[in-house]
Amino acid sequence: MKTKILVVEDEKDIAELVEYNLNREGYHVIPVYDGETALETLEKEQPGLIILDLMLPGIDGLETCRIIKQDPKLKNIPIIFLTAKSEESDIIVGLQLGADDYVTKPFSPKILIARVKALLRRISEKIVLKDLRKFDDLVIDTKKYKVSYKGKPIELTMSEFNILEFLSRQPGRVFTRDQIVDKVWKDGKFIIDRAVDVHIRGLRKKLDKAADFVETVRGVGYRFKDSSECDE
Ligand code: CA
Repeated sequence: MKTKILVVEDEKDIAELVEYNLNREGYHVIPVYDGETALETLEKEQPGLIILDLMLPGIDGLETCRIIKQDPKLKNIPIIFLTAKSEESDIIVGLQLGADDYVTKPFSPKILIARVKALLRRISEKIVLKDLRKFDDLVIDTKKYKVSYKGKPIELTMSEFNILEFLSRQPGRVFTRDQIVDKVWKDGKFIIDRAVDVHIRGLRKKLDKAADFVETVRGVGYRFKDSSECDE
């Protein structure tokens, strides 16, 4: 059965471009042009993924996302935001609200398709979190709290290890500093998000040649490299 994708975009030419390319990849597209219609559609349809423009007439993309993520029946549907580059602060809010990914306009359809595929793959693989995770020559042993690269052990602090472990759960997914603080430190409220930068810097230094695994997403946060994803 074809995966259904709800596309919420008020700019008709962009909506058509997205629809055309998703159709060509074998997805079933449900196009809507505003947030209200998106929410009405979600009462009847359960898509496998939502592509959501931020700037919409009426209920905007962030509010639509908030409503979806507060609904127990809908909250697990992955969301990819479409945004303009200048909307960095909105991107952060969107990710905090539970959106899974974002693509900045103007985008190439190839990139959007790659993100859709990567996200659907991540969702289906997410269920199995291995104790021993191997990423090429980098090995993270989450039971023994050990990391090695090309067979050589890397000594990390607990915070550094926890950040690496957390990011590696979902390669390719961007996390904001706040999200990392929330997940890595139980008493996150005492940690300022800039502390994440300090730990990441330390982590990268120790990872040395494997430092590329921890990627900075300028203005937004960090992610673990998804080596299976297409280059951008
Ligand atoms: Ca728009």
